[in-house]
Amino acid sequence: MKKHLLPILLCFFISCNKKPTQEKPIGKNQDEILNTYLKNGAWKHHYTTKEWDEWINKGLKQDSTIAYLWQQRAMPLWKQKKYQLAISYFDKAVALDRKKWLSRLGFLKCIFAKDYNAALKDLTTYKQEFGSTYEQDHSLEFYIGLCYLQLNHYDKALVNLQESVNYEIDQHGENWVHYLDRFYLAIAFYELGEYKKAILEFDKVLKQNGKKVIFIRLLGTHFDYKNRYPFDFNKFSKIGGSFKTEIKNQYDNAVFYNDFIVYSIIKKLKGIKGNNALLYTSDHGENVFDDGDFFGRNEANLTKSMFEIPFFIWTSDSFELPKDFQFDSNRKFMTDHTYESLGHLLGVKHKDMDFNKSIFSKSFKERERNVVNGVNFDTHFFKSNE
Ligand SMILES: [Zn+2]
Repeated sequence: MKKHLLPILLCFFISCNKKPTQEKPIGKNQDEILNTYLKNGAWKHHYTTKEWDEWINKGLKQDSTIAYLWQQRAMPLWKQKKYQLAISYFDKAVALDRKKWLSRLGFLKCIFAKDYNAALKDLTTYKQEFGSTYEQDHSLEFYIGLCYLQLNHYDKALVNLQESVNYEIDQHGENWVHYLDRFYLAIAFYELGEYKKAILEFDKVLKQNGKKVIFIRLLGTHFDYKNRYPFDFNKFSKIGGSFKTEIKNQYDNAVFYNDFIVYSIIKKLKGIKGNNALLYTSDHGENVFDDGDFFGRNEANLTKSMFEIPFFIWTSDSFELPKDFQFDSNRKFMTDHTYESLGHLLGVKHKDMDFNKSIFSKSFKERERNVVNGVNFDTHFFKSNE
C-alpha cells in the first residue's frame, strides 16, 4: 500500500484558473470582456507574467466595474506575498461585489497577510451583513477563531471555534468536522489552561480519518533541569548531595520525565488503529560532567555528549516499512538528513528525495560528520583514548 504524508498545515489554494460562479448576473458586454481579456487573454499565460497583468489591465480599461477582473489582478500579488498591493486591487473587487469578495478578503488577510485585526473586521462585517459562509473548506467562525487566537483573545477564539465545530456537526454530523477545527479548538482550550478539554479534542483529532503528521516540540531536558519535571518525578534527588550530584540528579529526573512523555505518546498511538509511526530525536545533547568538569553546552569547549543524541522510531504492527528498509544503529548519521529519512520511511515522493541520505535505506551512504566549525565528530572526540 502506498503511503503519503499529509502534513497538518494550513494549506490553502487561491483559485486562479477556475471561473467562480458569479452572484450578480453580469451583462452580455461584460461577459464578452471576460471572454476576450481573461479566458482568451490572461489565462493563456502564467499568472506571474507581465502578459497576465497586461491583458487584465486592457480588460479593466474596457470596463472597470467588473469585480472579477480586479480579483484576478490581485491574485498573483497574493501569491507573490505583495500583500499591500494585492489588497489595494482586491478592495476594488469588494467595493463592486461585497457579497462575493468580502469574506474572501478576510480569509486572505487572516491566512496570508496575517493582518488579524483587519481580517477580523472583514470577516465579522461580512457575517453581520450576510450571515455565515464557507471559505476554502472552513466556516467564517473558524477564521475568526484563528484571528482571535493570534491576538491572544483566547475566550473569543474558543467561542468561535466551538461555534464552527458545532455548526459542522449540525450540518453534516460528527465525522464531518474538519480536523483543523478541532485542532485549533484544542489549542484554545490549552491556552486557557483547560488541559483536560484540550487533550480530549486532540484525541478526537488523532482518531479522525485521514493521514496526519504531527510535530511535537518538547522542552525535554534543556537547562534549567530542575524545571523540567513535576514533583512526582523527583526520583533521583538526595538531600545533602554535592552541587555536582544535585545537578546530575536533576538532569536524570528530567530525562526520566521526558521518557514518560514519549512513552505516553507511544501508548496513545498504540490505542489507535492504523499505520502509525513515531520518530523521536533531539536538537543537541548536553554535557553533564561527562567529558569535562562542567554542565550545559559551551562552543569553546566542545564535548562528544553535546552532539550524541537519541534517535529512534516506533511503528505499529501493521506499519508497512519501505521495501529497501534497513536499520543499523551503528550507521554514522546526522540529523540534518531527518527530512529524507522520514520521507523515505513514510513513502513520500518528492523530486529531491535522496535515499542515500535516509538512515532507513539499504542505499544509505555514510559521510563525514562535520558538526561545527570544521570539527569532524568521528575523529575529533575519539583520537586520544577511544
Ligand atoms: Zn535545544
